[in-house]
Amino acid sequence: MSNAHITVLGARGSIPVSGSRFTRYGGSTTCSALVVDGATVAFIDAGTGLIDAGLMGLELAPSVGVFLTHYHWDHTQGLSMMDEMWSGACDICVWGPDDPQAILERAISPPLFPVSIAEVPSVRFMHMDGPIEIAGLTISPFDVNHPQGAFGYRIDGPNRSVAIVTDHEAGTGLDSEILDAISGSDVLFHDAQYLPREADAHIGWGHSTYVDAARAAAAAGVNELVLTSHNPDRSDVEIDEMVDSARGLFRNTEAARPGMEIVL
Ligand SMILES: [Zn+2]
Repeated sequence: MSNAHITVLGARGSIPVSGSRFTRYGGSTTCSALVVDGATVAFIDAGTGLIDAGLMGLELAPSVGVFLTHYHWDHTQGLSMMDEMWSGACDICVWGPDDPQAILERAISPPLFPVSIAEVPSVRFMHMDGPIEIAGLTISPFDVNHPQGAFGYRIDGPNRSVAIVTDHEAGTGLDSEILDAISGSDVLFHDAQYLPREADAHIGWGHSTYVDAARAAAAAGVNELVLTSHNPDRSDVEIDEMVDSARGLFRNTEAARPGMEIVL
């Protein structure tokens, strides 16, 4: 049986941040590596955390899948600066909702970016509409509630399954469909960008509170909740406080941080 895990590379939502307030939970935006038998076979999202893969000691497989939840900047900017893509060091297949080729060729090309991703022969783009198997992992998309639409992903590994819901505004009919998709998973990464007192001013922005995350974890019957998509203004100390509050609702709660590993 293979040895598989997820390594978190970035957990910040919306925009990267830097400074002494963000040393433990990091400033890089959303990206996680799927590592099987020592090789990174896929990334879930391509936020700025992606460019730290080498620094984290991750080795890329000859062929790598990049599974995007959606195309907002904080989920794609790492792809634009991925050395292995521009150099052709590995073949990359970008999966996502809608038309990843049309959207990324617009986002990563002049005048928004100095050079065009359309000219990279080692990149392919695939519309995703069902589960994909890669290196013994099954990656299954499901719809979440986020402006312009987005996916969450469930990753079923050799030992455990992990659901990742980076960007989702709770409180619509989609909640029950998401619950069906994530129920029975061992670990749930869930958007917790807002505190309850911040939510009213951000209706329609597509994010949840830690209370929403804890409720989803309890309803889905997962063993562990990992809060993610941290608000760009939320300091390490404030994230600790948020985790403490969330533990009052769902005991086994942590917050995502670069370097965190979750066994699959
Ligand atoms: Zn978004």
